[in-house]
Amino acid sequence: MIIVSACLLGLNAKYDGKSNAHALIQKYSSVGRFIPVCPEQLGGLPTPRAPVEIIGGTGQQVLLGRCVAQGLQGEVVTPQLIQGATEVMKMVKMFKITAAILKERSPSCGVHHIYDGSFTHKLVPGQGVTAALLKESNIPIYSEEGLTEEQLVGLLGEDVNAKFTK
Ligand code: SF4
Repeated sequence: MIIVSACLLGLNAKYDGKSNAHALIQKYSSVGRFIPVCPEQLGGLPTPRAPVEIIGGTGQQVLLGRCVAQGLQGEVVTPQLIQGATEVMKMVKMFKITAAILKERSPSCGVHHIYDGSFTHKLVPGQGVTAALLKESNIPIYSEEGLTEEQLVGLLGEDVNAKFTK
């Protein structure tokens, strides 16, 4: 089973009440191997909600208590992002998760880059809080950006792989 950022599957989990529907990922949702998760909702944040960024650090540093996550008006939401990541880890154990496909640039889900905390669309290298915890737990994480169909079918398992590569 594969954890997927809920917004990529077309669920309106995003801070502005919209989704980041990803056609290729949606195409394979009926295979039944995806577990949609939104760490920010699982951490108790509402939808819609204020946009959140990690201030002066990365998800790894949030987990170490070295920096915080804040909403646009300065409200601290570090506990909610950590709670969301913790809930996702429960699902990892519950569903025998083998990989995660996550939304790039999010302070929870970002895989290669996140916003820098200035709310000016500037990026820094690093993971969001949930992505960082998954990585620490040796769950392979993939960004939706640059994800190929071949790679996705490969992740879905040998039976699905055989069916789609005949
Ligand atoms: S926290 Fe992750 S799943 Fe939820 S809306 Fe943001 S990017 Fe999507």
